[in-house]
Amino acid sequence: MGCFYCDEHHEGREALMFEVGKMKAGTLYLFKDQAHKGRCALALGTHKKELCECTEQERHDFADDLAAASGAVKKLWGCTKINLGSYGDTNPHLHFHIVPKYEGGFEFGGSFAIGNDQPVFLGDEEYQEMIAALKKELGM
Ligand SMILES: [Zn+2]
Repeated sequence: MGCFYCDEHHEGREALMFEVGKMKAGTLYLFKDQAHKGRCALALGTHKKELCECTEQERHDFADDLAAASGAVKKLWGCTKINLGSYGDTNPHLHFHIVPKYEGGFEFGGSFAIGNDQPVFLGDEEYQEMIAALKKELGM
């Protein structure tokens, strides 16, 4: 079994998310479950487990990517608050969940769950529109 983020075609990853594009140090993905409108993940471009294993440059670039991606999500879909989470106990390739929360909406006021038993799936066209909007906003 390979790495969820390093494998070019990882079945588990492709079941859960679409690749949006490469950033300075990370790769941005759009979640298929859009219970939180705009939910993404940002994975480091190289295989490292922890932020403390990154070079200084990589750390800075990755933080810039995280800020840019969060800003794009917030601008495009107007959430109340962006939640960021980095776990990876069973998927130890450094990545952050970028989860927009909407006041009064799903899970607002609490932690977001990694898995959601009430996922909201969209049509292919809608995903493609969201990916195109993110790419445009991020200059990809
Ligand atoms: Zn990896």
